[in-house]
Amino acid sequence: MLTSVCGINWGDEGKGKMVDLLSRDYDIVCRYQGGNNAGHTVINERGKFILNLLPSGILRENVVNVLGLGMVVDIKHLFEEMQRLRAAGISITPENLKISDRAEITMPYHVLLDCLEEDRLAGKKFGSTRRGIAPVYADRYMKKGFRMGELFDLAKLRARAEEIVEWKNLTVAGGYKHAPVTVEEVMEYFERYGAPLKDYICDVGLYLNNAHKAGKRILFEAQLGALRDVDYGIIPYTSSSLTIAAYAPIGAGVPNLKLDRSIGVMKAYSTCVGEGPFTAEYFGEQAEKLRAAGGEYGAATGRPRRVGPFDAVASSYGIRCQGADEVVLTKLDILSIYDEIEICTAYELNGKLITDFPSPVFLEACKPHFEKVKGWRSDISKCRKREELPREALDYIAFIEERCSCNITYAAVGPERDAVVKLK
Ligand code: GDP
Repeated sequence: MLTSVCGINWGDEGKGKMVDLLSRDYDIVCRYQGGNNAGHTVINERGKFILNLLPSGILRENVVNVLGLGMVVDIKHLFEEMQRLRAAGISITPENLKISDRAEITMPYHVLLDCLEEDRLAGKKFGSTRRGIAPVYADRYMKKGFRMGELFDLAKLRARAEEIVEWKNLTVAGGYKHAPVTVEEVMEYFERYGAPLKDYICDVGLYLNNAHKAGKRILFEAQLGALRDVDYGIIPYTSSSLTIAAYAPIGAGVPNLKLDRSIGVMKAYSTCVGEGPFTAEYFGEQAEKLRAAGGEYGAATGRPRRVGPFDAVASSYGIRCQGADEVVLTKLDILSIYDEIEICTAYELNGKLITDFPSPVFLEACKPHFEKVKGWRSDISKCRKREELPREALDYIAFIEERCSCNITYAAVGPERDAVVKLK
């Protein structure tokens, strides 16, 4: 059984919480793309955890966690994340954590280049998380990066590092006029943070195939959302990886296997971190009210998120990209602040109303078209059954289902693991 949990929107939909909840029924949780540029926040009986690289299944005993080959891994960050979790009593061993020998290593100079470029852009900045993600994926496709499996042979690694550092300095020192990168610092990084990971590195494709044959259930956990996908997202304001569910088996290391189920996670309103068109955006007091109610500040960076009402145009597209058989609607409890709830049901483009998400090039020119539905104005965070939800909340869900042609099976009503209402 292969299931993916993916974001329908701009990321931060609450996927971490859903994976934490669903992982109860799975043997393996696998990340397959991205790096430490986003964070999952998981709150359960063991505490509050922010996970940037480790799959959320790490918080459950008996779940094996996999970092797939589509990922870019900042080994210092991973090393520290593992230490932090261990300090909180979470056990991490080669039995419950497996890292692909083909996953890419994010180097300190990737982080440096990300920052240098963002600084160069200054006022025109791109909204990078400054975690080196775009530079490391670029090097991966240039075939000038390092894969985790290379840590097994440090002598060979040094020979490659000498060539790559020489090439990299053409940009770091030559282009940006920054102090050059040295082979010594690169090797020290590998030895200090890479060597301790050796026992965790393996051919995870082989492991996952064998596990699948043995009837194990595998859950793929995505980072970010469909609108941030490098190919299907709002180009160029995307991440550098494929965030869509169809990529999950490939990025995990099992291109021969097919997904059985795709679960999309969608927020009951919209949030977006970083730059780029965000059609349904609220500004001023209207934005501040929603941001404060939803606690919308980035888990990895602390940046205030841009906010707005639910966007049915962008979400319908996200649902299609994710091939979502079912959808979880999160943070419904936050909308209790409203007497009337706005929903962006169409975009106005060149005087016409459109409901199909346009090509990114037209997005800047789109204006939101809002409709209003009645709010419920009561605390729903304690609701656990469909019958306990107010009529207006069920109507809100039905309205979204109808406008997005989707099947909403769960509504999340609070950050805690059990704060979920099964609707169907
Ligand atoms: P992710 O990257 O998709 O996992 O999203 P984040 O972890 O960045 O953001 C989700 C945030 O919302 C976390 O702080 C969660 O604890 C919290 N959260 C998730 N679901 C709900 C919900 O239904 N209601 C409320 N109030 N908070 C939620």
